[in-house]
Amino acid sequence: MINVTKTYLPDIDKYKDYVNKIYDSGWITNNGELVRELEKRLEKYLGIGNLILVSNGTLALQVAYKVLGISGDVITTPFSFVATTSSLVWEGLRPRYVDIDESTLNIDVDKIEEKISKDTSCIVPTHVFGNGCDVDRIKYIAEKNNLKVIYDAAHCFGVNYNGESILNYGDISILSFHATKIFHTIEGGALIINNDEIAEKVRKMINFGFASHEKITELGINAKMNEFQAAMGLCLLDDIGNIMDNRKKIYEYYIESLKENKSLRFQDINKKCTMNYSYFPIIFKSEEELIRVRDRLLENGIMPRRYFYPSLNKLPYVQDEQVNISDDISLRILCLPIYNSLVKQDQDKVISIINKYV
Ligand SMILES: *Cc1c(COP(=O)(O)O)cnc(C)c1O
Repeated sequence: MINVTKTYLPDIDKYKDYVNKIYDSGWITNNGELVRELEKRLEKYLGIGNLILVSNGTLALQVAYKVLGISGDVITTPFSFVATTSSLVWEGLRPRYVDIDESTLNIDVDKIEEKISKDTSCIVPTHVFGNGCDVDRIKYIAEKNNLKVIYDAAHCFGVNYNGESILNYGDISILSFHATKIFHTIEGGALIINNDEIAEKVRKMINFGFASHEKITELGINAKMNEFQAAMGLCLLDDIGNIMDNRKKIYEYYIESLKENKSLRFQDINKKCTMNYSYFPIIFKSEEELIRVRDRLLENGIMPRRYFYPSLNKLPYVQDEQVNISDDISLRILCLPIYNSLVKQDQDKVISIINKYV
């Protein structure tokens, strides 16, 4: 079976060394040594200020809304993973969808302002498949209208914008370190916060609001990362350069082999951004064609993924809005297998089926 992704597992002896360390100390969670070490190393590697590790990316979003006091309506994208919307609804917020740009697949910045009302408090865009949004214009619109910006940057590990980390944009950006993501901690995530005071508050919020053993100063939740997760992250961080290099080769080989196929379209990448090669989406002319090709791939043991599908405005617990481009693209987009250990022979199989049936 060739899946859309395959979790990268580091050298087991290296992981065991960390596990031995955890056993020796007896400290397995609650802001342990490895969590602190991983936070420091990630801040340095990514070139960012305050990074706070949490147990998953969805909780990172929820904590972000809470700490910034977001209320009422939130402008967001319908073309993202379900957690971008479900986290809002879970926190009692109302998603208001702005359609996407057909070429970049990110929120269409030209359409944001017409959606802003007196109830709007925040903009939550996603850097879709690691492709950076127009962060400068979103910043301008947010400042002009007195709105917060929280980026769902779940796909953006290691992505730079104008030579610095894209995670530095927005009041808060969040990352996901789920096993399916390019850099993972089994389950995990992080908040990246430019403001030191807000970062301090988040450190308490993710631990039930404890300021010290006997003092609770905030409404909190349990969103702590544990030491076994951090150990996985520390191992991955040693290998991430290689992982990205391998993915880059796979990505470029797909482009090279599929670009002559005029029935297919690829995502346009923001020229100010670097890439991390997390995903390889292709856009078909129609849903029928997508299903035809998907079925041929499945018959050959290849499991691509309809990502993102459905468009989030179609979820049963939100108010639908007219977002024609997102509705349309979500029916015609498929993510092809891309992962560190994908061998050329398997990739050739994927390519030949696509070129034969499209
Ligand atoms: C994976 C993902 C999330 C959720 O992260 P988890 O760590 O799985 O909770 C949120 N948003 C996007 C865009 C994602 O891809």
